[in-house]
Amino acid sequence: AARAAPILSARNLGKSFGALRAMSEVTLDLAPGEAVGIVGPNGAGKSTLLAALAGSFLPSEGTITFDGRDITRAGAAEVCHLGIAKTHQIPKPFDGLTVFENVRVAAAFGGGGDHAADEVAYDALKLCRMLPLANQRAERLGLLDRKRLEVARALATGPRVILLDEVGGGLTDAEAEELVEIIRAIRARGTAIIWIEHIVHVLLQVAERLICMDAGRVIADGDPEAVMKDPQVMEAYLGH
Ligand code: ADP
Ligand code: MG
Repeated sequence: AARAAPILSARNLGKSFGALRAMSEVTLDLAPGEAVGIVGPNGAGKSTLLAALAGSFLPSEGTITFDGRDITRAGAAEVCHLGIAKTHQIPKPFDGLTVFENVRVAAAFGGGGDHAADEVAYDALKLCRMLPLANQRAERLGLLDRKRLEVARALATGPRVILLDEVGGGLTDAEAEELVEIIRAIRARGTAIIWIEHIVHVLLQVAERLICMDAGRVIADGDPEAVMKDPQVMEAYLGH
């Protein structure tokens, strides 16, 4: 079958922070509704890639295309409006606001303006199973709930692509299981997903395709089983 035109593409993306080379020659395509996992050792450039895709900074080289449009220089706010949302590796809620208020801010920022924001926020909280916590102040949340809030805030911006940076890190098995169900539900809506996570078996409950990065580069991309058996991937893990 012919593959759908990609919703998100990166071509030869690179990023240097001063003398430090964080990412080199990253090329990838994400199909609409596709779920891709990214693994790789610490410092491999995974977060740098997602940050570049989300417009958090200008890449040093390369181009990013979303829905046929060059967004390389668009910036984070425009990228979010266009339909790409990213969670932060370390959740950054407004601690003084309630869970509902946090998600409502994201909803108002991401889309249809203020009047629809209540409904969008409610919907995102429901999907993330956070309605019982709606009136809780964010600063009082435990780790799983902070992670779920981070996902709910990203979801409330109405993305067609959601970028998840280690939302499962530090969770117990039961908590990770709950997170998997939430991310599956997001996917079932047709939202494309790129999810960075260290725990591969958790990732593969959602991702149908796996990318491995090492030293700033994509060293394998494709069928998860083949990627995990790739000698370069095994070496990347053993070598660190
Ligand atoms: P990963 O998410 O795979 O662990 P990162 O993308 O966070 O890796 O980091 C890749 C490399 O880039 C690391 O060496 C990291 O220290 C460096 N790096 C990331 N962000 C910055 C930054 N803002 N300034 C300087 N160096 C950075
Ligand atoms: Mg990271």
